[in-house]
Order: sequence, then structure tokens, then C-alpha cells
Amino acid sequence: MISATLNRKVTSMPTVTNILDDFPILHQEVHGHPLVYLDSTASSQKPVQVLEAMDHYYRTTHANVHRGIHTLSEAATTAYEDARRRVARFINAPSTKQVIFTRNTTESLNLVAYSWGRANLAPGDEVLITEMEHHSNIVPWQLICEITGATLRYVPITPQGELDYDALGQLLNERTKVFAFTAMSNVLGTINPVAELVAQAHAVGAIAVVDGAQSVPHLSTDVQALDADFLAFSSHKMLGPTGIGVLYGKKEILQAMPPFLGGGDMIREVKMSGSRWNDLPYKFEAGTPAIADAIGLGAAVDYLTQLGLDWISEYEHQIMTYAWEQLQQIEGLRILGPGPERRGGLLSFVLGDIHPHDVAAVLDMQGIAVRAGHHCAQPIHDHYHISATTRASFYIYNTTDEVDLLVTALNKAKSIFSF
Ligand code: PLP
Repeated sequence: MISATLNRKVTSMPTVTNILDDFPILHQEVHGHPLVYLDSTASSQKPVQVLEAMDHYYRTTHANVHRGIHTLSEAATTAYEDARRRVARFINAPSTKQVIFTRNTTESLNLVAYSWGRANLAPGDEVLITEMEHHSNIVPWQLICEITGATLRYVPITPQGELDYDALGQLLNERTKVFAFTAMSNVLGTINPVAELVAQAHAVGAIAVVDGAQSVPHLSTDVQALDADFLAFSSHKMLGPTGIGVLYGKKEILQAMPPFLGGGDMIREVKMSGSRWNDLPYKFEAGTPAIADAIGLGAAVDYLTQLGLDWISEYEHQIMTYAWEQLQQIEGLRILGPGPERRGGLLSFVLGDIHPHDVAAVLDMQGIAVRAGHHCAQPIHDHYHISATTRASFYIYNTTDEVDLLVTALNKAKSIFSF
């Protein structure tokens, strides 16, 4: 069970001791130091509840879904569809038909770009994205614009690392058919005002595609309140397994779209002369799905729900704010993006002219796992005229003590590279 001692009303820094008990992987040493895992933005760790749900499924229930008449297949189908129900409830989707299981955020965004884009984009149309996107919300649009002749435009960012709303006002126009943007930047940490951006897209007749890879694991999400046409996210960033992601979409838009991939399960009927498609959501789930992974995602959703997304975001905010204040004290260290009040639980930074890979290597020798590089977001790094940053990211199992270890290790990196 998740900690009974966790204080849901965050009046002071809560204890994460019981949460840590649920994450066996975190109880190990790396290079002789206790592991400090500060890379959850890339991929989060998994609690025993998720591991056990998947293990139990494979030990007791596994068979293919939607096909068999036999008992195991029916049990597997029930467990798989139950996971879909949990995910739908988690994001307040009106129906499970609107929750499509994909491999990850990347596949969800490609599904929209290819399926919706091929059917709806033509020369003269514009696709609007932002300069702070992950490559998975850039490259599919580049590809589909090449195929359809539509034009790709980018909303620039301000020096503070926020969207330039004046520029956005000019770029959104009657030619804009789709506005695709991240709810939270994986480099700057910037939290974008999703509902307002969706409303602005709708005001010019465009659909709004939201990349929720960084927001859904950390912030309470209500797709109906946001009025998003599409929302994409990944299980592995929200305590679930790799290999499964989600695409939420509005029913009438999904119904009108052609399939993305063809094969088993996505059809109603196949003749040599042609095929007819299955109902939602199966029209977009070709082939045997990631059944155990969906069940693991369902368990992850339960875990997050038990903690409460409000508690999670408040807790991460406290850790990140503490880290922001401590890192600001390190001379020569520059954090990218807005101040703590406008960002989620991650900090990307440069430390003098030490290469981020060298910083990360020194931290690793102290047992601290961070990410270094362009984080699949080269345009935002180009904006700052740097090729890479070091990124520390926080989740429910991190503590302020770990932030102190990070600060000590960064000072060590400074002394090794002597500046
Ligand atoms: N979008 C954002 C904002 C991300 O941070 C990431 C991954 O880091 C992705 C999309 C892609 O996620 P995945 O690799 O799970 O498809």
C-alpha cells in the first residue's frame, strides 16, 4: 500500500519514506554511492504495484485479447479493457472509445499527423507548432507537411522561456488547421496554459493537439475541461511500463479519420476487394496490443490516483523550488527557462563551459543519474545557441536531501574542471 503517513494537505515537506519502499530499484548503490535518480523526465521508475500487476497477469491470465472464446482470453480481454477504463477516468475522458493504446507519445502524435493530417491538410494550409517542442511533436509534422504541401510554422519563445503570445496571435489565422503544442516543456519546464491555447486554436477553426508527455504524469488532467481535440502521453513517464502510450481524441474527429496502421483487430471485415474498419478505439489498434503493459499502466494510474495529482504536483513543486534556489547559488551555473512559479519539476542548466556530458559523468560517479544532451529538443537549444544542457528532474520518490547531494556533486564537477 502507498504510505498512510503521507500528508495530503501539504503544510510542510512530506515524508516519502513509504513511497521509497515501493521502488526496489532505488535501493541500490552506483559507484559506491546510494543511487539518486534525477532522470524521471526521461523515464520514471516503477513501483512494486505495477511490477506485481504485470507479473500476476503473465502468471495467471495471459492469452490474446478480443479473439478467443476460451476463459483465459476472456479474462485477458477484461483486464485489458479495465485498464482502458482506468486511464479514461484518470484524464476524465467521456468514453473508453476515445482512449487509444499506442506504443508511446511519439506514436500517438504520428497517428494524428498521418491519419488526420493526410485527410485534412493541403497546400495553403498551415500547421502551427512551437519552438519548445520535443522532436516527436516536430518531425511528424515536418513529414506530413512534406507529403501534403501544407506549411509548418513555429511559435517563438521569449527570453524567459515562455511562448511569445504576441507572435502566437499573429501566427494563428484562418489558414491554421492544427495547433500542436506541449503542455510542459521537457527542457525549460515551462507549463503552458493548455485550455487558453486550445481556445485560441478553436477560435480560428484549428484543432488543438496537446503533447501531454510531461504534464499527465505530474499535473491533474481533465480533457473535457481543457477541450483538447487530442492528447498524447506515455506510460513509462508516469510509473508505468515502457511499450505503451495513449492517444485521447474527440469522438467525432476520431470517427472521421482513416486508420493509421492496418492489420488484425482494426477491421470489421476483410475481402479481397477491400476492407471495412472496426469501431473506436479498435480502428486504431492494429495487431496484438501490449496487453501486460496496459495492465501495468492501469496499476500506475491507480497508484498516482491514490497519492492524488494535486499532492504530487505540490510535492514536486517544493522539491524543484528548493533545487532552483540551491542551484542559483552555484557561481557559473545558468538555469534555462522561467522561475519556479511557472515551471514543473525539472531544471535544465549549463555549468560554466563544462560540457553537459562531463557534468553528467561526474554526477554519475557520485551515484546521481541526470540526463545530458539536447533531450530530443534541438530547436530550443539552438534558440539559446547551445548544443546541450544537463537536466535534473524530480518525481514523487525524490527528496531535498538528494538535492543537497546534487549541489555537492556539481561543486565537485566545478573543482575537477577548475573554474
Ligand atoms: N514529448 C515530450 C514533451 C517529451 O518529453 C517526450 C519524451 O521525453 C516525448 C514527447 C516522447 O515520449 P516517448 O519517447 O515516450 O514517445
